[in-house]
Amino acid sequence: MSADPTCIFCKIVAGAIPCFKLHEDDETIAFMDINPGNDGHALAIPKAHHPDLFSLPPPLAAAVARTAQRVAIAVQKALKPDGINLVQANGKGAEQSVFHFHLHVLPRRVGDQLKLNWGHRAGDMARIKANFEKIKAAM
Ligand code: 5GP
Ligand code: ZN
Repeated sequence: MSADPTCIFCKIVAGAIPCFKLHEDDETIAFMDINPGNDGHALAIPKAHHPDLFSLPPPLAAAVARTAQRVAIAVQKALKPDGINLVQANGKGAEQSVFHFHLHVLPRRVGDQLKLNWGHRAGDMARIKANFEKIKAAM
């Protein structure tokens, strides 16, 4: 499987960096975002290193979409947000900051005014863990 030793998400896949892991299968993992735009913000990624949508093999796009759907259903059940955006950035102009393909599962609240580029503010680890435990229990 292709991996990039300098890539933070490849390190998460390899277990070299910890994460709150919601799901794992042969092709994908899902875990909590460390700088959540909103409570319950999670990421679905392929295990193999592909920088963006343009380089991602279509069967892996399908696998990541399946994982994101599974996570979104659990987030909806566990946290009952008013909505969920699936967001995915490709390239600097789209404000992609990690160049290993990922699909954001981003819970929304009515009136939260969250922008498409919501900015990265360090999350409260205890709060991320509490949301992780609720979503994991709903998976
Ligand atoms: P992008 O800006 O590329 O669309 O999204 C990258 C996402 O990865 C950001 O939301 C950021 O918070 C998240 N992220 C970056 N580094 C880490 C990390 O080490 N662990 C986790 N769990 N998320 C990360
Ligand atoms: Zn990678």
